[in-house]
Amino acid sequence: MKQVLRLMTLAVLVSLQSCDNNEIDKNTAKDPNSPEIGLLPSHLNNAGTAHDCATVSQFGPNSYWSNTIVNSTETNFLKQQNNSASSLFGLNNVPLYFAAGSGTFNALSYGPPANYIIWGEEMLSGALNYGRIAVGYIAAHEVAHQVQFRQGYPSVTGASNTELEADGFAGYYLRKRYTTNWTEVDPAYRFAQSIAGASGSSHGSAPQRRSALRLGWLLGQYNLSNSNLDYYFFYYYNSYVLPGNGKSTNMVKPKDIDSNVHKYMLSKMDELKDINSGKISEDEFANLSNN
Ligand SMILES: [Zn+2]
Repeated sequence: MKQVLRLMTLAVLVSLQSCDNNEIDKNTAKDPNSPEIGLLPSHLNNAGTAHDCATVSQFGPNSYWSNTIVNSTETNFLKQQNNSASSLFGLNNVPLYFAAGSGTFNALSYGPPANYIIWGEEMLSGALNYGRIAVGYIAAHEVAHQVQFRQGYPSVTGASNTELEADGFAGYYLRKRYTTNWTEVDPAYRFAQSIAGASGSSHGSAPQRRSALRLGWLLGQYNLSNSNLDYYFFYYYNSYVLPGNGKSTNMVKPKDIDSNVHKYMLSKMDELKDINSGKISEDEFANLSNN
C-alpha cells in the first residue's frame, strides 16, 4: 500500500512538472517578441523592477508584442539608433522590444537583471512626426539609462539628475553620431519636451532639459569616457549652470579636468545659464551656433 501511494505521488509530481513545461513552451510559442515569458505590455504598468520611462503614459490593455512597429523601415531605423548609441557608450548588448497597438505612447529602460529597452509604437510614430532625429534622441536617452543602471551613474544624487544626465548623454550622442549641425537638433528637443515635464514627471522643466541637452552637445566635441562624461556634466551643471552658481571668481579648475576642455566650457557658461533660466528662448535656442 505504501508503495502504491509512493508511486501515485510520483506520478502526480511528474504530471505537474510536464504540465509546467507545456505551459512554458506554449507561452514562448505564443509570444516570440515578448522580453519575458508570460509578460504582457499592460503588465509593465505594475512591474516592480527598476526602470525609467519617457512619459507617464501607461500601456493599454489591448497592446501586444510585435517585431515591427510603424513599419519595417522605421523599426530598422530605431534599431540602428539603439545600436549606435549602445556602441558609442561601450555597451555591447542592449536588447530592444516593441509593444504595438493602442496605448503604447511610452519607451522604457529596465535595470538589472532585465537590462532591456521597450519602445511603444505610438512613441515611435509620435517621434517621427517631429523627424527622425527625435527617434535618435529618445533612443540615446533610453540607452543612457542603461549606462546608468549598469555602471552606477549618475554619480551625483538629486531630483531630476537621472533624467537630465540622460538628456546630456543624448546631446553628446547626437553630435557624435547624428549631425554636427546644431540647427538640425531642433525637432529632437521639441519632441522631448512635449512628452515630459508635465504631470509631475522627473524629467525636469523644459529649460532645464534644453540646458542639459546643450551641455552634452558641447561636451560632444571631445572624446570622453562614460565616467568623464558623467563627471564633467555634473561639474559644469551644478557649479555653473544652476541659478546662483558660477559667480565666484575663486573657482579653481579641478585637477582632473583637462585644461583645454575647461577653458572652452567656461566660455559657454553664460549661454548655458541663460538657457537654463529661460532667458534664451526656445526659438533662440534652436538657432545657437554649432560650437
Ligand atoms: Zn528618461
